[in-house]
Amino acid sequence: MTLSPSSTMNKQLKGQYLALPQGRNVQVMYVWIDGTGEGLRCKSRTLPEEPKSVADIPEWNYDGSSTHQAKGFNSDMYLIPAAMFRDPFRLDPNKIVLCEVLDYSREPDAKNLRSSCKKVMDLAKESHPWFGLEQEFVLLGINEKPFGWPEGGFPAPQGPYYCSVGANHAYGRDVIEAHYRACLYAGVNISGTNGEVMPSQWEYQVGPCEGIEMGDHLWISRFILHRICEEFGVIATLDPKPVCGNWNGSGCHANYSTELMRKKGGMKYIEEAIEKLSKRHKYHISVYDPNGGKDNMRRLTGSHESSSIDHFCHGMSDRGASVRIPRHVAHDGHGYFEDRRPSANCDPYSVTEALVRTTILNEVDDGDKA
Ligand code: ADP
Ligand code: MN
Ligand code: MN
Ligand code: MN
Repeated sequence: MTLSPSSTMNKQLKGQYLALPQGRNVQVMYVWIDGTGEGLRCKSRTLPEEPKSVADIPEWNYDGSSTHQAKGFNSDMYLIPAAMFRDPFRLDPNKIVLCEVLDYSREPDAKNLRSSCKKVMDLAKESHPWFGLEQEFVLLGINEKPFGWPEGGFPAPQGPYYCSVGANHAYGRDVIEAHYRACLYAGVNISGTNGEVMPSQWEYQVGPCEGIEMGDHLWISRFILHRICEEFGVIATLDPKPVCGNWNGSGCHANYSTELMRKKGGMKYIEEAIEKLSKRHKYHISVYDPNGGKDNMRRLTGSHESSSIDHFCHGMSDRGASVRIPRHVAHDGHGYFEDRRPSANCDPYSVTEALVRTTILNEVDDGDKA
């Protein structure tokens, strides 16, 4: 049995209780990023009436000593509501709220990367930066082996699985279907899904989102993914290389444009941005996974549709490049480009912040020539 014990509980029985009237009460699920910079935590409270916007949701707190976030004896951390979504699990009028985390002195927690991202996005708002992130992930059984892989062995080599259909090629589609609809219900700007190259690997895309919304929407989409997987009894791993050997890793390609790039003649601005990125490869790699490039080292090997972690390169329609200009964008002469370097477990706030710092705020580093 590779499904979790909780997933085998009687869901019909649960449904009976969830169908009970809730009166005027509204249940709000507070969600935040823990001290690992990857893990999500959540807890719920009742509000006496429906919040109309995030401004109506009160601050809250939790014990940071249990989330790798406490400093000394001051373990209380503040939860500051930042973005509100509809709750696809408890349904209307209940809410999910993504929170920023402040420490006891009301300074942003070390892993609250939304705080600096927001400042950078405010500085760049005239340029209207848009992002679209492609979240790849792999389903695992509760035994932490890829879901549906034969016991003690491997499935047939990669080839038939990408965008596949059929029980022999598509492993665990229920999860991605449930997730897609739940994201739409929640108000997450999910734009599509597809089966990926490794069996039991999937992708969904969120975007285009402008500025700070990219990080907010991607984090909530991840919360919804983990929550749905919990119900099905499987695990979604965002590890960039969950299986070594001849199996693809998982990335989080960042599609990016400014208003100038999207307009007629935009290719000039796309090329300028890529030139700036080529001079800052090390900085970008250092913020494209939560461990300063260590995680991505296992993935960015130069094979399996990835570029080398050591060198920057770009190309039209080239899936082995660090940055790719999609063929249709080259054809139109304007649009967006794709930075293929971010790892599946990246913090979207860091990735979007770095793109804006380099291409709009024109920040440079000395001695970082790729
Ligand atoms: P790929 O061909 O690399 O698999 P996908 O279709 O999976 O690309 O993802 C493309 C992403 O680009 C989507 O998330 C989409 O929302 C996003 N996107 C489309 N237009 C723009 C744009 N002008 N700026 C930024 N992102 C965009
Ligand atoms: Mn894609
Ligand atoms: Mn993909
Ligand atoms: Mn892509």
